[in-house]
Amino acid sequence: MSSLRFKVVEEASNRKAVPVEIPAERPETYYGEHVFNRAKMYEYLPLDTYRALVDAIDNKKPLPLAIADSVAAGMKQWAIDNGARHYTHWFQPLTETTAEKHDAFVEHNGKGGIVEEFSGKLLVQQEPDASSFPNGGIRNTFEARGYSAWDISSPAFIMENTLCIPTIFISYTGESLDYKTPLLRALAAVDKAGTAVSRYFDKDVKHVQSNLGWEQEYFLVDEALYDARPDLVMTGRTLMGHESAKNQQLDDHYFGAIPSRVQAFMLDLEIEAHKLGIPLKTRHNEVAPNQFEFAPIYEETNLANDHNMLIMSVMGEVARRHNFRVLLHEKPFAGINGSGKHNNWSLSTDTGTLLFAPGKTPTDNLQFITFVANVMAAVHRHNALLKASIMSATNTHRLGANEAPPAIISIFTGSQLAEILSKIEKSDNDELVAIGGKEQLSLDLPQIPQLMIDNTDRNRTSPFAFTGNRFEFRAVGSSANCASAMIALNAAVAEQLTEFKNKVDARLEAGENLTHALLAEIRSLLQQSSPIHFDGNGYSDEWKVEAARRGLDCETNPVLMFDAYLRPSSVEMFTKTGVMTPVELEARNEVKWEMYTKKIQIEARVLGDLAINHILPVATRYMSILLDNMVKIRNLFPGKKGEELSEMDADTVETIMNHCRFIKTEVARMVQARKEANRITNEREKAMAYSLNVAPCLETIRHHIDKLELMVDNEMWPLPKYRELLFIR
Ligand code: ADP
Ligand code: MG
Repeated sequence: MSSLRFKVVEEASNRKAVPVEIPAERPETYYGEHVFNRAKMYEYLPLDTYRALVDAIDNKKPLPLAIADSVAAGMKQWAIDNGARHYTHWFQPLTETTAEKHDAFVEHNGKGGIVEEFSGKLLVQQEPDASSFPNGGIRNTFEARGYSAWDISSPAFIMENTLCIPTIFISYTGESLDYKTPLLRALAAVDKAGTAVSRYFDKDVKHVQSNLGWEQEYFLVDEALYDARPDLVMTGRTLMGHESAKNQQLDDHYFGAIPSRVQAFMLDLEIEAHKLGIPLKTRHNEVAPNQFEFAPIYEETNLANDHNMLIMSVMGEVARRHNFRVLLHEKPFAGINGSGKHNNWSLSTDTGTLLFAPGKTPTDNLQFITFVANVMAAVHRHNALLKASIMSATNTHRLGANEAPPAIISIFTGSQLAEILSKIEKSDNDELVAIGGKEQLSLDLPQIPQLMIDNTDRNRTSPFAFTGNRFEFRAVGSSANCASAMIALNAAVAEQLTEFKNKVDARLEAGENLTHALLAEIRSLLQQSSPIHFDGNGYSDEWKVEAARRGLDCETNPVLMFDAYLRPSSVEMFTKTGVMTPVELEARNEVKWEMYTKKIQIEARVLGDLAINHILPVATRYMSILLDNMVKIRNLFPGKKGEELSEMDADTVETIMNHCRFIKTEVARMVQARKEANRITNEREKAMAYSLNVAPCLETIRHHIDKLELMVDNEMWPLPKYRELLFIR
């Protein structure tokens, strides 16, 4: 057992669970310890500063500049008291990760020494160089400078002795260069539009809030094995590897007992998360071996998204303490389930109503139906855009690849809601009667049992499902920034609600009563959007045919899917809601295409290297052993007998040789295809060339390598195999 592979496998399988330092106190004591939350603000800020800041946060107003210095001073003191030496503006560029540039608090004191300082100016705004972040050409047209500005709705926190200040990131000319800016705009738009509609039902509503509860799926791999797989290190997924004999066939991993090494990691992560104010709650094994999931209690969407971005980096750090690596890639292993990030999404009012939850009174239920119908209409109108919002080079492996979910957006409602919706759709206004001087419905609608919150008939094949009091957008990729999906969804719903409000108001002005007006518009929405409603099996081939007939977007090429962002209906929607300008949309698409190209380009380079420098030499060496053996046999058993005895080896050599030849030609073809694609300057066309001419080579080359893996001496095979990577002991 001399090979590197055996060494790392041995190391991995001998690992024991790393002990976790469990705080003596209960979570409530250390929850939010690293966050400058309201309790800390109260403690560290002068009372009038505290009041002004909280008022700005609660009423969604900008930070009053007069208090910036005072806030900064208090925040700095808290940070220093908690061991921080640096501060950073923490933002979310279009790279799908977070960015931070650290500065120490130190300044000259004029007497040869230093003091630690932090002014309101530094808290509120900074100027990182925008040109080093993806910007889709915005910097070429304008200036390289970018601004980061504090988002007061998301509290500052300390990580690794650094005070992190969540910020937006925009160009010199005001275009967003990040996810947070358009997300905040979309949330403001849905707040405004949602509030206007909720006020039909409750005059006291001042704000509508969007909520997000993400479920994060991920794989863990032992660090030693990970390090021995250049493809995992460089691309986050295995570019080769024959299926393991045992995978997920027995369904013995899902909800199974969590291995002790993994459980220690999870506990450690939960403690870290709670200190950072991230309310992690659920953890379990997922379907595929080595696949796991955790989920927090849901929060306001912007905060929830910051928390998801934060936890994705924290989990990497914590995993290393346990000699693991986290794989957030959507499809790290061929042949077994990939990872997603279900986005549980809802709207709620500041008066405490969940707008997608059936209520106790007829009014509540009319409100419930109003919001559900508007979501259905928005998702129907923008189904192509929503699909584009979750698409990426990495998520392509899940969507449409016969795995949850299909590359067609539809809504699953479950039978109870479907029945109610269809009743409304088919009814007419005559069924409305006045009861006790108040407008009431005589439909069966009013008393929707509260227990309709129904977890029984879930449809796992649906990309967008109603789940009792929320919608679950399941197509989001595990490595994605949820903001992308949340921007598109909240903006689309904001547009729809505004349109709905205008139509209902027009009816009211024409003398109709409110219930009539609402129901008439709801009915029309349900009729128009009926093609989006699908409760059947989303994996079936019939659905693909049926969806196309219904006019739903069935595009499966990721590069072309992104076109949906530039459709007139999308541009109009984003412009009207104030979420993104045409310039921003175009720039972002450039970035999406560029990212797609780069991801495939890196994969192609890594696979080419592995094929030529790792796999072919080993296959050749093995062939040479077989050939040697044949010569020896023929020498020992001359004539026909020798030939017969060595025949098996001859067959093997021939098959190996054929695979090797194929790999060599195909790698050369892939390199050529890359060269040709690289000459294209238009980002969309270049991405198209990569998707049509380069990406398919990855599959064909791997197919032959995987065949070789089955033939070549196990001891010689250079890379850890699936059966070794996938089963943590
Ligand atoms: P599942 O059975 O789909 O795993 P869970 O009960 O674990 O569902 O919930 C998944 C996520 O949905 C959690 O983050 C939870 O807080 C969140 N969630 C629950 N209700 C809502 C809601 N009304 N709005 C948004 N998210 C919600
Ligand atoms: Mg779920």
